Amino acid sequence: MEERREKPLGENFDFPPSVLDEIQKNIEEIILNFDIPDANKFDVIKKINFMYSQTRYMSVTDPLTGLYNRRHFEECLEREFLRAKRYKSDLSFAIIDIDFFKNVNDTYGHSAGDYVLKEVAYYILQTFRKTDMVFRYGGEEFAVIITETPLEKAVIPLERLRKTIEDYVFRYNGNQIDVTISIGVCEADDNTDTVHKLFENADKALYKAKENGRNQIMHL
Ligand code: GH3
Ligand code: MG
Ligand code: MG
Repeated sequence: MEERREKPLGENFDFPPSVLDEIQKNIEEIILNFDIPDANKFDVIKKINFMYSQTRYMSVTDPLTGLYNRRHFEECLEREFLRAKRYKSDLSFAIIDIDFFKNVNDTYGHSAGDYVLKEVAYYILQTFRKTDMVFRYGGEEFAVIITETPLEKAVIPLERLRKTIEDYVFRYNGNQIDVTISIGVCEADDNTDTVHKLFENADKALYKAKENGRNQIMHL
């Protein structure tokens, strides 16, 4: 408990959103029963609601890139997987990893690395539809849930993204930084019986892309 309190809010904020929602639902009732002047009660409710919406936002957002964070990713992937199975709709899933990203930090510094992460996040977001979901899954790893889309269609925007990143001239402090990405993609087909399998298939495909020379898309 003590340890959690010491973490800076925002960076590693990991309070389940469903618990927050539960608390939020009861806020009005709690405040109205509080021993404070009636005239102030609605002001207090308004302030708490505002704080709540900020907290809620932080609990699902990666502060560096503004993308959804890993916690939200886990919730969403499971939900979309179950939805696709239930309604027999197409679902593709991709993991995107920046190639040799450690070299960027080592050569140009950590803030150059942060700049590259933000730019790559921006281009990933630009590439996909509003109905798809983009996450910063780990340090230099991103995940995309591509809804209502079979694998053969999902590779089209992914390839466009791969090319965009390859061609884009990243400049930081007067340095030109070459960046490429590797992508593992899969779809929730009949053999994919669990969400873990879905994730594992994309991860294996990513590993293949790395093994095969990076800067490419692979599926199993
Ligand atoms: P590969 O092509 O095999 O993916 O190699 P890589 O160097 O990209 O992979 P590796 O896992 O060795 O290194 C990932 C690096 O990402 C190491 C870590 O310092 C860096 N990193 C993780 N999070 C951040 C961050 O928030 N900012 C910066 N600047 N770097 C980060
Ligand atoms: Mg990685
Ligand atoms: Mg990498």
